[in-house]
Amino acid sequence: MTDQSAPLTLFNSLTRALEPFVPVHPGEARVYSCGPTVYNYPHIGNMRAYVFADVLGRTLSWKGYALTHVINITDVGHLTDDADAGEDKLEKAAKANAQSIWDIARHYTQAYWADIAALNIRQPAHWSIATDYVPAMIEFAQSIADKHCYELPGGLYFDVSTVADYGKLARAATDEGEGRIEQVEGKRHQADFAIWRKTPPGETRQMEWDSPWGRGAPGWHLECSVMSGKLLGFPFDIHTGGIDHREIHHPNEIAQNQAFCCAGSLTDPANSGARMWMHNNFLVERSGKMSKSSGEFLRLQLLIDKGYHPLAYRLLCLQAHYRSELEFSWEGLGAALTRLKRLVMAVAQLKERAEPGVDVSGWQAHAKLAPLVARFDAAIAEDLNTAVALTVLDEAVALKKIDPALKLAAIGAFDSVLGLNLLTLSRTDLRLRPKAATVTEDEIAQKIAARHEARAIKDFAQSDALRDELAAQGVDAMDGDPLGWDWRLG
Ligand code: AMP
Ligand code: ZN
Repeated sequence: MTDQSAPLTLFNSLTRALEPFVPVHPGEARVYSCGPTVYNYPHIGNMRAYVFADVLGRTLSWKGYALTHVINITDVGHLTDDADAGEDKLEKAAKANAQSIWDIARHYTQAYWADIAALNIRQPAHWSIATDYVPAMIEFAQSIADKHCYELPGGLYFDVSTVADYGKLARAATDEGEGRIEQVEGKRHQADFAIWRKTPPGETRQMEWDSPWGRGAPGWHLECSVMSGKLLGFPFDIHTGGIDHREIHHPNEIAQNQAFCCAGSLTDPANSGARMWMHNNFLVERSGKMSKSSGEFLRLQLLIDKGYHPLAYRLLCLQAHYRSELEFSWEGLGAALTRLKRLVMAVAQLKERAEPGVDVSGWQAHAKLAPLVARFDAAIAEDLNTAVALTVLDEAVALKKIDPALKLAAIGAFDSVLGLNLLTLSRTDLRLRPKAATVTEDEIAQKIAARHEARAIKDFAQSDALRDELAAQGVDAMDGDPLGWDWRLG
C-alpha cells in the first residue's frame, strides 16, 4: 500500500485559511476553472493559471478522487476592463482585424489548446464554450431578475445589496476596483454590474441574441455562474482562477450563485456556489505586470522559438508555490531547462539498466521508497507544495543500490502529479533548435564526434579549433558533463 494518507489541505480564498478538502459528493472532486478570453494569444502568465489547475486536478486524482474538471472558453462578454467598462474584447479584436468574431475566437481557442497540450495539461472533462450556453444564461438571469436585478437603458443590472456578504472574497478593499467601474446613470450601487448588456440603439454587434431585456449579449460573470452550475451542480467543490479574479469576477459570480440558489450568508462557503475558491498568484516580468500588448509578448511559442522546451516552463512554475508571485527571467527558465534535462537523462540511464520483465508491483513497500512516497504525498497534500515535491523526486532519482525498475516506478508515480512527462520525454525532444539557429543537428553531431576523436589522441589544437568553430555557430561544447550532455545551443 502506498502511503498516500496525508490529509489534503487547500487554501480557500473565501475564508483566507487552509482547510481540509471534504468533497461534496463522496469520492468525487468537481472543479471549475475560469478559462481564457480568446481575443488574443495567451501569454505564459495566463498559462500559469492552467498549470496550477492541472496540478490541482492531478493531486485530486492521486488522492483517489474521481475528478470532473471544467474549463470554459470565453468567446463573448468579457469587456476590456473587468470592472464593467469598455468594449467587448472580442468585438474589439474583430474590428481591429476586420475579421469575423467567430474566426477570431476559433483561431485563438486553437492556439490556447496547443499551449495546453505542449504543457502536458490534462484535458478537462468539458471545455465549455460560452456562446453555446446563451439560452441557459437567459434562463438563469430570468430566474433571478425579479428579486435581484433592475433594468436600465444599457441592460439588466445586478443589485449587490440583495445578497448577503457581497464582496467577501475580495475583502472589500475596493477603492481601486470601484474607481475603474463605469459610471452608469441609474445604477443603485457602485458595485452593481450588468448581467445582460443591450446592444445600443442603432448599433449591431456581430454576436447578439434576443432576450427579455432586448437584443444584446450576456455579461462575463453570468457565463461562469451558468456553465459551472450546469455542468457541476451547485455547490461543487473548487472554483479556480488567477488572483485578479478574486477582486471582481468571482465576487460577482458568487453574488449571482447566491441569488440563483436562494442561499444565505457566506459564513457557509457552500452558499457561494463552490466550497472552495482557489487563486494562483501572477507571473510577473521584472518590469512589472505581464501584458499582451507591451514589450516582448511572452507567448509559449516565443520560448519554443528560442530553444526552450515548453515543459521547462512547466517546471519553472512548479518550482514556486502557486500562491507566490513568480518573476519570469530567461536565466530562471534556462536553469529549469537544465534541471529537466538532468531528470530526463537520469531516466534514460535507468531505462538502459532496467531488466525487462522485473515485477515492480510492490515498489511502494520498498524500504528506501516508502518514506519518499510518504514525504511526496505530505508535500502535495499541503496546499500543493510542488517545490518540496520536486526535491523528493530528486532524492528518488539519486537513490543508490536499488533496482532501476523500482526507481522508475516511483518516478512515474510522482510524475503523475507533476506532469513533466519524465518517462517518455527524450533527450532529443528537449533539444529544440532556436528558430534563429543556422546549424543543423547533424553538423553539430559530426563536429562533436570529430572533437572526441581529437581529444582521444590528445590533439588538443584540433579539439580547440573544433570547439571554436562550434562556438561561432552558437553551439557550446560541454566537456565532462556528468550526464553526457555534450552540447547545447548557446
Ligand atoms: P484571461 O484570458 O485574461 O481571462 O485570463 C486567463 C487566466 O489567466 C485567468 O485565470 C487570469 O486570472 C489568469 N492570469 C492573467 N494574467 C496572469 C498572470 N500574469 N499570471 C498568472 N495568471 C494570470
Ligand atoms: Zn470565470
